[in-house]
Amino acid sequence: MDGDFPTANSVLKDVFGFDGFRPMQADIVSSVVEGRDTLAILPTGGGKSLCFQLPALLRPGLTVVISPLIALMRDQVRALREAGVAAAALNSGNTEEETTAVFDALRAGTLKLLYMAPERLASGGTDRMLAEAGVTLLAVDEAHCVSQWGHDFRPDYLRIGALRDALDVPLAAFTATADEETRAEIVSRLFGDTNPRVFLGGFDRPNIHLAFAAKNKPREQILNFAAARKGQSGIVYCGTRAKTETLAEALTDAGHRSLAYHGGMEPDVRREVERAFQVEDGLIVVATVAFGMGIDKPDIRWVAHADLPKSIEAYYQEIGRAGRDGAPAETLTLFGADDIRYRRMQIDEGLAPPERRMADHGRLNALLGLAEAQVCRRQSLLSYFGENREPCGACDLCDKPPETFDATEPVQKALSAILRTGESYGAGHLTDVLCGTVTDKVRMRGHDELPTFGVGQDIDRKQWSAIFRQMMGHDLIRPDPERHGGLRITHAALPILKGEDKVTFRSDTIEQTPRRPKVRTLVSDEDAPLLSALKAKRRALAEAARVPAYVIFNDKTLIEIAETRPKTLDDMANISGIGAKKLERYGQSFLDVVMGEAPPKPHPARRKLAGKPSGDIYDQLLSVQAELSRGRDGTGKPMSCSASLLAKIAALGPDRIDQIHRLLGDRLADRFGDAFAKVLASA
Ligand code: ADP
Ligand code: ZN
Repeated sequence: MDGDFPTANSVLKDVFGFDGFRPMQADIVSSVVEGRDTLAILPTGGGKSLCFQLPALLRPGLTVVISPLIALMRDQVRALREAGVAAAALNSGNTEEETTAVFDALRAGTLKLLYMAPERLASGGTDRMLAEAGVTLLAVDEAHCVSQWGHDFRPDYLRIGALRDALDVPLAAFTATADEETRAEIVSRLFGDTNPRVFLGGFDRPNIHLAFAAKNKPREQILNFAAARKGQSGIVYCGTRAKTETLAEALTDAGHRSLAYHGGMEPDVRREVERAFQVEDGLIVVATVAFGMGIDKPDIRWVAHADLPKSIEAYYQEIGRAGRDGAPAETLTLFGADDIRYRRMQIDEGLAPPERRMADHGRLNALLGLAEAQVCRRQSLLSYFGENREPCGACDLCDKPPETFDATEPVQKALSAILRTGESYGAGHLTDVLCGTVTDKVRMRGHDELPTFGVGQDIDRKQWSAIFRQMMGHDLIRPDPERHGGLRITHAALPILKGEDKVTFRSDTIEQTPRRPKVRTLVSDEDAPLLSALKAKRRALAEAARVPAYVIFNDKTLIEIAETRPKTLDDMANISGIGAKKLERYGQSFLDVVMGEAPPKPHPARRKLAGKPSGDIYDQLLSVQAELSRGRDGTGKPMSCSASLLAKIAALGPDRIDQIHRLLGDRLADRFGDAFAKVLASA
């Protein structure tokens, strides 16, 4: 600021440490600063908080933020204080002293931002208290909570309109999820007669990599996916409560830190999982969709679906929890014929009125279309939301275009088998008929007498199962709830049956998963050890300050430090996410880590292992060692093993702790023994 009048750009840089605005932020910020009523719809991770936090600092007086989630409020207040901003929160989680301190600050007029839970609006005296505190701006986060038809309806949100009238100040409302109806509802309930300026951001989340895979030993698929992302925070969504527990156990056995979460668990156990996930770096939560609302962790690096989600909206929301900090994040969604059958039946057996069920089938179809897509997934996803795109280069189909084949003939054969058997059977029996397999059931029903019997012998059973799945995915056939899920032909199939239309299917959706996936890192191999060291430092600082790690610096900032290796505090100041206050508070500590870490030229001992599996192990040992070089809490005396010792361990691959102990000697074994044993056990 240098004594000059602060501007949006200078505050962005000096307080928040960002180099530039994200798309739409600049326009929204200036609308709010100018005191216009504003409604902004930005995707999750789009950076909504900045759009009221920054204006609050530029405007005179106090900004009140209504926010529905206490945990989220807490983190934002903590992060603001870390950046040197006078912020506080009033909610039911406060202690009495905290509340008194907030009231004192309000009277003294020292606060810039006050976060408030909506319940607070119901208690008498709040309006008067706020009027006396000199409120000049009202910001409403998660504005869709005012919609009575949504899942997140909060009755106290209906009081906001009256508060705005009483205070007579501009209002800025923010949400990530608002279709046209909800938008209209937000406007009428929050803004009354005035029309706010509306900013509608896009749906794309370019830093999230998209991928689907047909189920093929699904547990192994999930374990492999997690193994390649070891140490990174992730969520695995499962279709059932029981599965969350077995899968969490399997992940724990594989050496991950992992916890289950579902609606059947005691509330305080659930809260404990939420808390742990929020503050820990690298925890995996295996959950049902009950794990959702209330997670505000910006550094979730991956989301996997062990089962197909319910609809394309659910899919978008669930994967959207990854990578809110803008750093790369990855997703994998598994699906199989059973998932499709289950989701269809769930809709058909539900109690919704028929139009609603039709719409639900449509939303499921959209997701299945995405699962069976043959070109860019992002194109397909965004086109559902009405946005047209070029191929993205950041999905599995852009990475590796699938092989396809003309499936018209096999599909016709399958359809004909379905018709001739009276549309009453599942894929298993139909495959028997097509392949000419004589089972008891086939004989009993006389299906070996049918003209279609054995016409599909040129295709093996595994391929038939992929064909049936894709037929369901393209909604050519559906399980009929009236006939125990027997497959029935839809209208969409008729032109194919009549030979008026052709279909193309993917031939390679069942992929072999590699036995031992290579561990992926967020940065190049060269920078990985430094990034681990920076993370260890961050963990130590976060534990000391009792805040979640990302409140110190987020992953994106650490990645940038690891890649650019600043040499001075001035260099450090240019890194995104480092504002003046944080530079002052933490700059030197991280600089020390960078400077202590001479650019790692591969040691001759490592070079000898190049291209061998032990080379990989060597790198993992090295990175574990970097994390622990100053001990678990980052304050111990620096210690390391010689490169030739690491190479020896990597090459020998001892798998017993006493062998490792002997190789390391007491002093080194004390610090590194257990961690090395873990690396070697999973190798
Ligand atoms: P949401 O829109 O979901 O509320 P947040 O406000 O929590 O998103 O922002 C998501 C992440 O993006 C946060 O880690 C925040 O620090 C970061 N962020 C916001 N604006 C910028 C920006 N202009 N440059 C870089 N990072 C930003
Ligand atoms: Zn793509």
